[in-house]
Amino acid sequence: MQTETCDVAIIGAGPSGAIAASILADKGWHVKVFERQHFPRFSIGESLLPHCAEFIAEAGLMDAIEAAGFQYKDGAAFTMDGEYEDIYFPDKSTPGPGTIFQVQRDRFDKVLIDGTAAKGVEVSFGETVVSFSSESELADHAELIVKDEAGEERAIRSRFVIDGSGFGRVLPRLLDLETPSDQTKRRSCFKHVTDNIDHPDFDRNKILITVHPDDPQVWLWLIPLSNGLSSIGVVGKDEVIKQAGECPESRLDHYVRTSGLMGDVMANAVEARPANEIVGFSANVKNLYGDKYVLLGNAAEFLDPVFSSGVTIATKSASLAAKLIDEQLKGHSVDWENDFAVELKRGVEAFRACVNAWYDGLLQRLIFMDNRSEDMTRYFTAILAGYAWDESNPIVKDPKRFFRLMDALTKEDA
Ligand SMILES: Cc1cc2nc3c(=O)[nH]c(=O)nc-3n(C[C@H](O)[C@H](O)[C@H](O)COP(=O)(O)OP(=O)(O)OC[C@H]3O[C@@H](n4cnc5c(N)ncnc54)[C@H](O)[C@@H]3O)c2cc1C
Repeated sequence: MQTETCDVAIIGAGPSGAIAASILADKGWHVKVFERQHFPRFSIGESLLPHCAEFIAEAGLMDAIEAAGFQYKDGAAFTMDGEYEDIYFPDKSTPGPGTIFQVQRDRFDKVLIDGTAAKGVEVSFGETVVSFSSESELADHAELIVKDEAGEERAIRSRFVIDGSGFGRVLPRLLDLETPSDQTKRRSCFKHVTDNIDHPDFDRNKILITVHPDDPQVWLWLIPLSNGLSSIGVVGKDEVIKQAGECPESRLDHYVRTSGLMGDVMANAVEARPANEIVGFSANVKNLYGDKYVLLGNAAEFLDPVFSSGVTIATKSASLAAKLIDEQLKGHSVDWENDFAVELKRGVEAFRACVNAWYDGLLQRLIFMDNRSEDMTRYFTAILAGYAWDESNPIVKDPKRFFRLMDALTKEDA
């Protein structure tokens, strides 16, 4: 079998793989990326959060993203039972970028990986990683087996392997690292439309999240994109969404039609990309790292799409891991537990508390509360803008305590 060597081999060319590859290339390492699909390819996950702009900039890719003409984004709007509340990201409590973009992921992911390849990273498309060993015939090198579309296999020996394979979850499956998620099994149906929006109250610079009037556990997204397109989708318990129609299209249509403002805004929409669906997307793993490997983004854990945290967590994990890999390859000792796993989980736990509070109904009460304090709005806005690692924010410092206090407060308000 043909063999190749490099310093770092990366599985997957999504945002986590591209950001890690780019940062490592800037530090002078020989990096190869293996991607089983051909880009541009569709991916869900189109609403970005401002915090991820910091990791895109760290990877030296922000100019390319800014030049790509994506829809500007400065916040998020929520509707429930005829009420409307919008959150303006620059009002957040944490310093850092307050705006970002809503993106067609096929184009966004391609801009990131093309910018990475331009730095000399070798990116191979149509190549699927099929096996991993933390040892190889070359001392101190792990080994991946990669299969091309003709079925030809070759061995890649590298000093470190990054799994950025997203829902492919390559190393969790190969190394038996998967563990059940604590999230309920949910189903999401989504499509792209030419939106033809002429509703006077609609703000294209914000995503619109709608709580369904018949079931607060069901919510819909409307993400305005550039070129007159929008992404729309519904999320709810698997068994509930399944009963709403025969196919993804009819399930989604049912919820859009019956969702008040969202139905009005979508009145003239024309399908631009057929509906699709994804079921049971929440996932978790036993370990985030091990001998010569680390898991990034969705290859590690995925909670829920409600706060658009996926790409932010993916790019944060890439930034943390790339710095540690650089140190390790230079021969310095590295504390993967504290400087990667504990650090990453701090933000993930803040998002988890918010996701749980959303489905409990508490966060919905908080969003639509009449006399919310300015501080509370700033803290909450910071999380919605992706700043889930800032311990000066009480939601990050002690999420359970914060939501216990909020529970009492919102009940008093009611
Ligand atoms: C319904 C839904 C809505 C979402 N909405 C949002 C949102 O609005 N905002 C947000 O930030 N996030 C959202 N997400 C999450 C978002 O999609 C992911 O968090 C994000 O794409 C993760 O990036 P990644 O780089 O880890 O993985 P991915 O973007 O999935 O990239 C992984 C890449 O690895 C490749 N790969 C897989 N297996 C192999 C293999 N064996 N060999 C080689 N390559 C392989 C894949 O082809 C893919 O290109 C949503 C998720 C769901 C389910």
